[in-house]
Amino acid sequence: MSSSGKDLAEGSSSSPSDHHHHHHLHQQQPATPSRYESQKRRDWNTFGQYLKNQRPPVPLSQCNCNHVLDFLRYLDQFGKTKVHLQGCMFYGQPEPPAPCTCPLRQAWGSLDALIGRLRAAYEENGGSPETNPFASGAIRVYLREVRECQAKARGIPYKKKKKKTNQNKGNEESSSTMQLA
Ligand SMILES: [Zn+2]
Repeated sequence: MSSSGKDLAEGSSSSPSDHHHHHHLHQQQPATPSRYESQKRRDWNTFGQYLKNQRPPVPLSQCNCNHVLDFLRYLDQFGKTKVHLQGCMFYGQPEPPAPCTCPLRQAWGSLDALIGRLRAAYEENGGSPETNPFASGAIRVYLREVRECQAKARGIPYKKKKKKTNQNKGNEESSSTMQLA
């Protein structure tokens, strides 16, 4: 009689309750998680739509980094960041005094963030990390090129600080406290 009770106990306790207590990593969320999540979903849908609109359509399982690179270039037509061409007289000027005909592009920072979201979305939607086209080295190279090109063309270096001049040292502190109502 003791043996039958034991069998029952073992049969019904195949999943120890301990296992439910190991997921506390979700606590540390960024400031606006829902916004990031919805942006990620939108980006993922946009990319899926883009693949569908190819002739012929590209199934997600066939998607590789070349499709992603084409997608990034395709997005440039919706960009809002002026990137001067080498021949433009404003090349390298952060604040050109007049308009020019240089194209608008997606800013490097936007593309970089976009790729991060899509990389996560790809795996959340069943893609395997080994084949994740958004994690490909070719994408990293492309983004680095875009960053360097835009930094030169727009005259915006990574170190934002300008060389400080010492001339009106005495006034600096009082005059720099601008009160914006
Ligand atoms: Zn220009």
